[in-house]
Amino acid sequence: MKFPNRIFHDIKDERVIEAINTIPRELFVPDELRDYAYKDSALPIGYGQTISQPSLVAYMTQLLDLTDDKNVLEIGTGSGYQTALLAKLANKVFTIEIIEPLQKRAKEVLKQLGIDNIVYKLGNGYEGWEEYAPYDAILVAAAPPKVPEKLLAQLKDKGKMVIPVGKPGRTQMLKLITRDGDEFIEEDLQYVRFVPMIEG
Ligand code: SAH
Repeated sequence: MKFPNRIFHDIKDERVIEAINTIPRELFVPDELRDYAYKDSALPIGYGQTISQPSLVAYMTQLLDLTDDKNVLEIGTGSGYQTALLAKLANKVFTIEIIEPLQKRAKEVLKQLGIDNIVYKLGNGYEGWEEYAPYDAILVAAAPPKVPEKLLAQLKDKGKMVIPVGKPGRTQMLKLITRDGDEFIEEDLQYVRFVPMIEG
C-alpha cells in the first residue's frame, strides 16, 4: 500500500518521501485499525498513546536535515513508526520510551523489518541519553510544558531539535531549535496536538 501523494505536499525532501513509502505503516497500528493505516490520521496504539499522522512524521523528519552519517536521539518510541523513518535516513537512532510494553512491541516490529541501526532505552526522556551525546538531531514525540534543559545540552553544535511544547490537553507549538555554540535559535512552526510528555 502507498499513501496518496497529496498528503506529502509540504515535503520538499524527496528522500523523506521515498523512505516513508518503504515502511509498512499497517504493522505499527493495532490489527483492528489496519484499514486506516494509509490515511493521514493519528491512531491510538494503546496505553493512552497515539501514532502520529504520516504527514507530520514526514514533516518533522524533514526539518532535521538527516544524512546517513548523523546520529539522532528520539524521545517517545511509541509504535516505532517514526523511529523506522529516522533509521532509514540517519546513521543511528537512539530511542527512549517510558512505557515498557510499547517499547517491546516496537522493537519486535522493527526487528521483523530488518531495521537494525536502532538502540533502545526504557526510561525517562527528560533526562535524554548522556552516554551517546551529543546528537546531530533530537526529535521529541511527546509534549513537555517547556523545552527540557538536558535535551538542549545533548544537542551538537549546529544540531537541530524538533519538539512540541505546551501544557497537557492544550494545543502545543511545534518548535525547531538550532544550536549555534551556546545559543539556541528557536522557530515556532505550527500548532500541533501531541500526548503530554510524562513526568518521570
Ligand atoms: N513517534 C511515535 C509517537 C509516540 S506518542 C509513533 O510514531 O508511534 C509519544 C510517546 O512518547 C508515547 O509512546 C509515550 O509513552 C512516550 N513518552 C511520553 N512521555 C515520555 C517520557 N517522559 N520519556 C519517554 N517517552 C515518553
